[in-house]
Amino acid sequence: MSPPTALSLDLSQTTLNSATNLDFLTRDRLREIQWKKLDIIVHHAYENSPWYREQMQLKKLVPDDIKSFDDIHKLPFVTKQVLRDTYPFGLFSVPMTSVVRMHASSGTTGKPIVVAHTREDLAVWTQSVVRALKSYGVHQNDVLQNAYGYGLFTGGLGLHDGGQALGVTVVPISGGNTERQVMLMRDFGVTVVSCTPSYFLHILDKAEQMGVDLRELPLRIGVFGAEPWSDEMRKRIETKAGIKAYDIYGLTEICGPGVGAECPHQNGTHIFEDHFYPEIIDPETLEPLPDGQEGELVFTTLDRFAMPMIRYRTRDLTALMTEPCPCGRTIRRMRRIAARTDDMFIIRGVNVFPGQIEAALLAVEGTAPHYQIILTREFGGLDNIEVQLEVQAADIGDTVRDVEVFQRSVTHEIQRITGIHAKVTLVSPGTIPRSEGKAKRVIDKRVI
Ligand code: ADP
Ligand code: ZN
Repeated sequence: MSPPTALSLDLSQTTLNSATNLDFLTRDRLREIQWKKLDIIVHHAYENSPWYREQMQLKKLVPDDIKSFDDIHKLPFVTKQVLRDTYPFGLFSVPMTSVVRMHASSGTTGKPIVVAHTREDLAVWTQSVVRALKSYGVHQNDVLQNAYGYGLFTGGLGLHDGGQALGVTVVPISGGNTERQVMLMRDFGVTVVSCTPSYFLHILDKAEQMGVDLRELPLRIGVFGAEPWSDEMRKRIETKAGIKAYDIYGLTEICGPGVGAECPHQNGTHIFEDHFYPEIIDPETLEPLPDGQEGELVFTTLDRFAMPMIRYRTRDLTALMTEPCPCGRTIRRMRRIAARTDDMFIIRGVNVFPGQIEAALLAVEGTAPHYQIILTREFGGLDNIEVQLEVQAADIGDTVRDVEVFQRSVTHEIQRITGIHAKVTLVSPGTIPRSEGKAKRVIDKRVI
């Protein structure tokens, strides 16, 4: 794809061609578009949302004090707690007659939060999903099996609308009924599948049990997101299914999947910056961090009117990448999200993220990608961590010595990456509960 020559884009353009062109604007033109939109959205929020107005007044700010992106740091943050405190409609900034859809987060970490969309807001979201799909090389001849859950969760409808807008044939199967997933994948000649990476592992297992080899099907692309997944996991999936596995990132508060997406280089997730303005802050001091440094990702929705999110703290940890991408897209990339601040657990004083454990496990030959982490606390207060891992005798050998050697190398790898000593328990295939959506990796049984 070559960069567009005509850069006289109108802000309201939503045709498919302009959608792709937006990935290739000059940085100056992009900045100009972003600034126009920021100015409008800050005024909109101030004038139509009592919450934003009050927060800005507390900081003695009026919208005209925000004169450039350098001033964005003056604006207050929005946190998940704010969304809970204003539940259900406290941040809605248009009359209900203009709201055409509501979604709610899956509530992984507490009470659900509600978000609203106008028709135009949905168009922005759909356009972003179209851009994501195009960057993976999806086109109108593709058949997309959308196995993200439909409903309040944004995955299903997000991919559905984007796929349909691009002209792909969408199979709206939603999550679950895994045997049928495999059957339709085979019978419908599905070429693209979208779901959480952990659910795809489940589909892979089921296909194997049914004697279906996904590598022999026309399936060629996987659109995976909604939860962290390591590069080791990607390699396993790509080899076993014979597909390219791409990252899609998003969150309900900002819209849903399609805030960012990988390109064919699979090296960082491009952010659709003309809609979602990213910042990285230090989660402790809340000060902005320079590009390249890891911190908490913060987003401002530049053109969402029903419920603008200005400086929303995602709690996702990443860094903005500085080098231009060889694909030619000028929109910036972030490192793939490996962790969120609230996933972290502390064990014997050491901070550990589930993704580190996953990377350790999958670095060892013979491991299956199904695992669970169980945290317990002894009577005296000492914390223990047990990692349950599925294995097949065929992969690791079945003598006592084989098993011991394997177990030792997994324990060693976990220690090498995290610095902690974990008890590793090998379990038979199918023991770890399978998820149809986001996997639950950590069971914390500690009574704090
Ligand atoms: P909840 O916060 O209840 O899980 P969402 O369904 O909106 O609600 O999930 C959004 C979160 O899912 C993101 O903030 C991020 O932590 C995670 N997530 C989404 N996409 C990805 C991805 N591609 N890689 C890693 N994590 C992701
Ligand atoms: Zn790229």
